Amino acid sequence: MSNQHIGFIGLGIMGQPMAGHLLDAGYPLTVYNRTPSKTEDLANQGASVADSPSQAACQADVVITIVSDTPDVAQVIEGPGGVLEGISSGAVLIDMSTVSPALEQRLDGLLRQKGASLIDAPVSGGDVGARNATLAIMAGGDQKAFERVRPILEVMGRSITYCGPSGSGQLTKLCNQILVSVNLLAVCEALSLASRNKLDPMTMIEAIQGGAAGSWQLANLGPKIASDDFDPGFMIDLMQKDLRLVAEAAGASNTPLPATSLVHQLFQSSQAWGEGREGTQALAKVLRRLASG
Ligand code: NAP
Repeated sequence: MSNQHIGFIGLGIMGQPMAGHLLDAGYPLTVYNRTPSKTEDLANQGASVADSPSQAACQADVVITIVSDTPDVAQVIEGPGGVLEGISSGAVLIDMSTVSPALEQRLDGLLRQKGASLIDAPVSGGDVGARNATLAIMAGGDQKAFERVRPILEVMGRSITYCGPSGSGQLTKLCNQILVSVNLLAVCEALSLASRNKLDPMTMIEAIQGGAAGSWQLANLGPKIASDDFDPGFMIDLMQKDLRLVAEAAGASNTPLPATSLVHQLFQSSQAWGEGREGTQALAKVLRRLASG
């Protein structure tokens, strides 16, 4: 399996370590990144470097994309010099970005016309999960194509789940983002009450984490909030992109999501204060401003 050639497009916070794991596992790898300097580390470890997404795709049995937003995925796949121009019949494209399920369904049709397949496979687990290869990967698309690429996904993640036809991976990821964002607001509120009542925040987190209210957000972001560390693992701007996708899917299916809408509005305040490039835990600063005159 490891002689399958992989084209990897998008070497950001997530893509860089994910591509590194594939190289370490012995897969021949060709990488492309819009900003070429970010390819240097992987090139030094043995990856080939392509000048365009099309060039990264043309030798590849499997192409992986992980870029920012819906228009970015559309651009690297169907834009000039995009994956569609280079991909071979029989190849599988795995899009691991978090983007609109409707885009994945449309691209699925375009890939089929080329004799290729598309798997939408967004991830959860943050930069830590990408570095430790412990991501949760939720996949949609043709099930046979998914089974063919499962060993590649297993190199990057710990939990790999087939969720259904094209777009199902993205819809599952949107459910994930509801849970992440609403839980984060609860973590911020608990820490706010603790601090305004002079309760030691780290003791509160330690006491609670092992019980029914424990969570990834509390364990990983609670201590950062307590120590005023607002550096990004996952940026507020990217979370807002995801919550807009949640609102679109909710609108299209007449699904009321009142708590998610509230968090989306509170993150809007973060963005208005110039905090969009900080980590999502900076939501705590919005509550601090609400609490002080
Ligand atoms: P990032 O660090 O900002 O990296 C984005 C990557 O996409 C960069 O390589 C960037 O190229 C490339 N890119 C963006 N627009 C492009 C375009 N139009 N054409 C070509 N390349 C383009 O973001 P990230 O944190 O790795 O996130 C990537 C995806 O994973 C997003 O969809 C995000 O929602 C999802 N995700 C992130 C996390 C997390 O914790 N960070 C967790 C789960 C899922 P340049 O280097 O040239 O800018």
